[in-house]
Amino acid sequence: MTGLNKILLSEKDIPEEWYNIQADMPKPCLPALHPGTGKPIGPEALAPIFPEALINQEVSKEGFIRIPEEVRDVYKLWRPTPLYRAYFFERLLDTPARVYYKYEGVSPSGSHKPNTAVPQAYYNKAEGVKRLTTETGAGQWGSALSFACQHFGLGLEVYMVRVSYDQKPYRKLLMNTWGAEVIASPSDRTESGKRVLARDPDSPGSLGIAISEAVERAAKDDDTKYSLGSVLNHVLMHQTIIGLEAVKQMEIAGEIPDVVIAPFGGGSNFAGIAFPFLRLNLTQGMNIRCIAIEPASCPKLTKGEFRYDFGDTVGLTPLLPMYTLGHNFIPPPIHAGGLRYHGAGVIVSQLYKDNLIEARAVQQLACFEAGVLFAKAEGIIPAPEATHAIAAVIEEAKRAKEEGKPKIILFNLCGHGHFDMSAYDAYFAGKLTNHYLTEEELTANLRELGTPVINL
Ligand SMILES: *Cc1c(COP(=O)(O)O)cnc(C)c1O
Repeated sequence: MTGLNKILLSEKDIPEEWYNIQADMPKPCLPALHPGTGKPIGPEALAPIFPEALINQEVSKEGFIRIPEEVRDVYKLWRPTPLYRAYFFERLLDTPARVYYKYEGVSPSGSHKPNTAVPQAYYNKAEGVKRLTTETGAGQWGSALSFACQHFGLGLEVYMVRVSYDQKPYRKLLMNTWGAEVIASPSDRTESGKRVLARDPDSPGSLGIAISEAVERAAKDDDTKYSLGSVLNHVLMHQTIIGLEAVKQMEIAGEIPDVVIAPFGGGSNFAGIAFPFLRLNLTQGMNIRCIAIEPASCPKLTKGEFRYDFGDTVGLTPLLPMYTLGHNFIPPPIHAGGLRYHGAGVIVSQLYKDNLIEARAVQQLACFEAGVLFAKAEGIIPAPEATHAIAAVIEEAKRAKEEGKPKIILFNLCGHGHFDMSAYDAYFAGKLTNHYLTEEELTANLRELGTPVINL
């Protein structure tokens, strides 16, 4: 090893502002539409469920937004996060590429999600909100928000999909330890839950039902608001803390990445690491490739259509312009990781449409194979989502070897897999398979939607 293995910043280097890419996008995002009238909705339509500060951030065109001191103080518990040079992984791959990764698994809940959970809890508290509600599937988001609400003295109700509630007790216990109430969804607390239970008392639940329950609670109670862990513009902006730190760390390493790679669910960790590098492309004429990696079983960017669709499965949100597989899309159950969301966030969708970012789909077995290789070389066991980025890094590193070029690769290791070992268990036991979405499945799904297709 010749250079630093781990590039650390000090607490005073934690950025003082988040980066808002809406200031630099060549084409602005299209407006959200009211599903009834088809007319653009104003930000005030979101007021019953989100606090004003976050609604303002959602539509802001200011390039940088100040991070409140109270939020920076909490960030100091685990930020700045380390940036590593993956020497042992490079050696294993026998590649001339130089591979760097930003590690977000050092946060209290083990992923990048607290980067937005903390400011969301802060702004709600500042506006007098008493309680938040949210949904969680595997539990990454629910645990991050539990930690954040606990810090600011907010109550939290987490609607956890019934099957996960029964099968993943450790994530639930994390949330309980941080003081949140975890409710198996469907529940009898809401009309939406009661309706499902009346039909099917043993319903396993779904993320769609859990969202409906959480939103219903927030809409009906003045002291209660709702919180979302991905997709929305303000969430992506909070996550840019990752890339803003990484830009400084790559400078210390004396390198400019040729490619920046991140796994892609709704877009928050991808945006988090990529947007501050994309800013250099947009404002300083640099040419850094930013690649979002999605699962081949849920390929919204590479196979989806750019059109208006609902953000949730049930159809409660405004219509959003995004790459989507259809809000009625149900990812195959064989898929072990997260990244199951049917659409891409509005900003990422516009950037992709304008060819400013790239996307690639990878197969599940290649992901776990990559994750195990990485764990053997670097020691960290990646979250199943993060293995998608690693599979793409391996492809890039192989290409660098074929071309004989010392390519510089940076990727986001957005979380550790300590609470996902059952997915690794399924992989080792040979229970996981690859899955492609067929053209027939895709068109059938989109035909059913009935929401307007955007003319290109
Ligand atoms: C939630 C989550 C994701 C997917 O969400 P994005 O908004 O696309 O980042 C990916 N990785 C981990 C570890 C997560 O917890």
